[in-house]
This record gives sequence, C-alpha cells and structure tokens, in this order.
Amino acid sequence: MPIIELEDVWKRYESGTETVEALKAVDFAAEPGEFVAVMGPSGSGKSTMLNVLGLLDVPTEGVVSLDGRDVTDLSDEEMTRERKRSIGFIFQNFHLIPTLSAVENVEVPTLFGNDPTARQRASELLERVGLGERLHHRPDQLSGGQKQRVAVARALINEPRILLADEPTGNLDRDTGRDVLELFTELKVEADVAVIAVTHDDQLRQYADRVVNLVDGRLTEEATEEFTT
Ligand code: ADP
Ligand code: ADP
Repeated sequence: MPIIELEDVWKRYESGTETVEALKAVDFAAEPGEFVAVMGPSGSGKSTMLNVLGLLDVPTEGVVSLDGRDVTDLSDEEMTRERKRSIGFIFQNFHLIPTLSAVENVEVPTLFGNDPTARQRASELLERVGLGERLHHRPDQLSGGQKQRVAVARALINEPRILLADEPTGNLDRDTGRDVLELFTELKVEADVAVIAVTHDDQLRQYADRVVNLVDGRLTEEATEEFTT
C-alpha cells in the first residue's frame, strides 16, 4: 500500500485577477522503500507538489492520503502532528543552524519531545551517514556533502516514513551529489522510507526507482530506465 498518495489533486493560486493552476489533476503514489524523482522545469509546480506531499499546503481539490488515511481535511494542528510524525525534509541549502554542532543540528527536530535518548540516536545517525568523526564540527567546518549528510541524519531522527528532498544535490558537485544519492538508495531499503526528490538534476535518474515528469502542472510517468550504475 502506498505510504503517501495524491488523487486528482489540483492547486490554484489566485493572484489579483489571475488564477494560476500550479497542479492539474495530479495522481501520484509512493511506496515504502521506493525512491521517486520528480523532474520538471522551473515553474512546473514542483515546490507546490512537495508542499502538498509534505502537508505544508492543502490542495484546492483532490485527496491526500497518508498511510491509507485521508488527511486532506485535517485541522492545522493535526496536519502538523502528522507531518512531524511521518515526514522528514531535506533542502538544497541544507538549512543547518550555523551556531550548532553537527550532532546538535540532528537533535533539533526532537527538541520539544524531551527525549533523553536523542543525543545517542543523533550520534548513531551521524555514524550511519559516515560522519562519526565530525559530531562536534559546526556547519562552517564541514564540506557541502558533509552538510547534506548532516541534514539527512536530521531528517531521519524522528523515524519518518517519507523523506522529501527539494533539489538535494543542487548545491553539490557531481561526485558529492552521487554520494548523497547513494546514501538515499541505502536508506530507502534500510529504513524502509519512501524518498521523494524534486529536482532538475539528471543524475538522479540513475538512482531513482522511478521518474515522474511535471510539466506545466501535469504529472506523467516516465518509462523505467533499464541501466544502473
Ligand atoms: P517549481 O517549484 O517547479 O518552480 P512552483 O510550484 O514554485 O514551481 O510554481 C508553480 C506555478 O505556481 C508557477 O507559475 C508559480 O508562479 C505559481 N505559484 C507558486 N506559488 C504561488 C503563490 N503563492 N501565489 C501565486 N502563484 C504561485
Ligand atoms: P528553494 O528550493 O526555493 O530554495 P527551500 O528549499 O528553501 O526553497 O524550501 C522549499 C519549501 O519548503 C518552501 O516552499 C518552504 O515553504 C518549505 N520549507 C522551508 N523551510 C522549511 C522548514 N524548516 N520546515 C518545513 N518546510 C520548510
């Protein structure tokens, strides 16, 4: 069963007298353990789709289901609770807090949970992403790829079922980007998460199980690539 699903999702923005249709009749589903790349040019609706999948925004029409449950009409509070419980976010610009160490950054999503095991779990996750030797480094003491791995560890700290990534390789050189993508392919299996990455980066095609294309708000499935690296 899909962990997250969009059915006939439309998103319209009213700006002045104009209506922009950012998503048009989008059907989408991702299974646990699946890595899906959503590709499309600028303005095609990728951020809007990510915000809807991340329960940060609601569709104008259509249904969003999380683990088989319709979450479209939840209150803001319930939405926030579902988001914190089920979804981890990764951003192009890493969004790390510059004054905190790597391990403290990974702990941030647990801060209101008063969880005595958080430090231990954060350290283990950093080891898992290959940064066991960098626990106490601040972001400015880490390379781009290391920063993104800290962000991946932070996204995993609450054991989400879904990882949403917005241009995760956008600020990385090709080799470093490849390392992060390899990490995604390991994690989706080990942690049984659905990884959904929104991107322009063609390199993702080789790592994703499935590629969907978003063009002018419409989503189409791409034929599966037969080669792997
Ligand atoms: P992408 O992430 O692929 O660049 P977006 O989802 O940001 O695409 O935008 C899709 C379309 O919706 C664009 O035409 C954009 O201008 C429009 N749009 C996005 N957000 C808003 C908003 N808050 N108000 C009005 N129009 C918006
Ligand atoms: P961009 O790819 O345009 O630079 P960001 O990566 O900063 O955008 O953010 C992508 C989307 O995620 C934005 O629409 C924003 O509203 C949302 N967002 C940004 N920061 C957070 C956060 N800390 N938690 C949840 N959502 C966020």
